[in-house]
Amino acid sequence: MLTAITKTGKKICLGYDYSKETLLLLRNKEEFVCPVCKEKVVLKLGDQRIFHFAHHQGSQCGEIYENETYEHLEGKRQLFQWLIKQEISSILEFYDPTIQQRPDIMFQYKGQRYALEYQCSLLPDKIFSKRTSVYLENSYIPLWVMSSKHLHQKRKDLISLSNFQYSFLRSSPAGRLYIPAYCSENRHFQIVDSITSFSIKNSFVHLSSFPLQTIQLDSILDPMKNHPPSLNSWNKEMDKFIFNWALHPHTQHKLFFQEVYNRGLNLFLLPPEIGLPVEHSVLIQTPPFIWQTYLFLDVLAKKTPFDLITIKEVNDSLQKRIQNKQIILRNLPQLKNIQPITALLEYLQLLIKLDILTRKSDRGFILQKPIKIPRSNSEREEDKKNFLTQHRCTLLK
Ligand SMILES: [Zn+2]
Repeated sequence: MLTAITKTGKKICLGYDYSKETLLLLRNKEEFVCPVCKEKVVLKLGDQRIFHFAHHQGSQCGEIYENETYEHLEGKRQLFQWLIKQEISSILEFYDPTIQQRPDIMFQYKGQRYALEYQCSLLPDKIFSKRTSVYLENSYIPLWVMSSKHLHQKRKDLISLSNFQYSFLRSSPAGRLYIPAYCSENRHFQIVDSITSFSIKNSFVHLSSFPLQTIQLDSILDPMKNHPPSLNSWNKEMDKFIFNWALHPHTQHKLFFQEVYNRGLNLFLLPPEIGLPVEHSVLIQTPPFIWQTYLFLDVLAKKTPFDLITIKEVNDSLQKRIQNKQIILRNLPQLKNIQPITALLEYLQLLIKLDILTRKSDRGFILQKPIKIPRSNSEREEDKKNFLTQHRCTLLK
């Protein structure tokens, strides 16, 4: 850890730049205690590691706070210095006794209190969720920053994200969803935004890098505009994904296959309108082409032109599928207040753009023309080609 208290109650924070000489002098005349457990701690001034305080062996507190890697110590120190340079009131390793949690940095910004956690090691889902909800219940805004080493890019615009990585997903004030990451070695932030998932793990993303020196806190809390994938690359990945998925089906998807076939559909003959990218599909772990197929089967396929589709029907279908574990939601501790139906409503908005639906006040939508199901491979290819030519430039804008 980087903070300790002297016998006279003075706080020493190694987040500030002390010279080794100053610290050696200080160590000769002072004793230090841990601000949390009040046990004696030692000031370590080796050349190998960043200067830090350490508990004596066997201390319980030490076990909780001292499995810190060099990367973590260095990263939180850099982030602390970055904040104070912007004259943002910040406390490194702030211990809040009422909630018994110690964010890496607590800072106040625009009237809000933030708990910044720079997470380098894997953290079990349960602990991640628990810490986050305690922050939220005690009027902290959690700001989890992932270590960049956890980012696994498959391609410039494709990334694989695990449940752990999804835990870092947060919302900007404008409602944009993104993951902030930081690399202490290169001293730059990375922002993963426009996350458009097409399978449980794989997503289209827009990834940008910013040197710590030049980026301001605002840009981390409220990053840029949306960069959706192009409809063409989305389609290519979807086709590949459905093909592989149908070739190697999991037992848990057997019921889905069965239902699709029982309803006279063929996975390889799905219309281009099923399996579209929507921003909030990250809320749902189940791939978009599956939940959109369910929505089609439960609601859209049962309607004839000029029928009303109510939001309640849409929600009932979603809830039923969730209950039956046919649709699985993601555990997103920082986004508990966003309802998953948002994704379905965004999808219906896309169907409005495709002239399949129109909006009917707040209550719902009117079906204008049914989604056409192709009857053969060649028909599907033809439909898809037309669909892409017609909507390539407009649909995802
Ligand atoms: Zn302690």
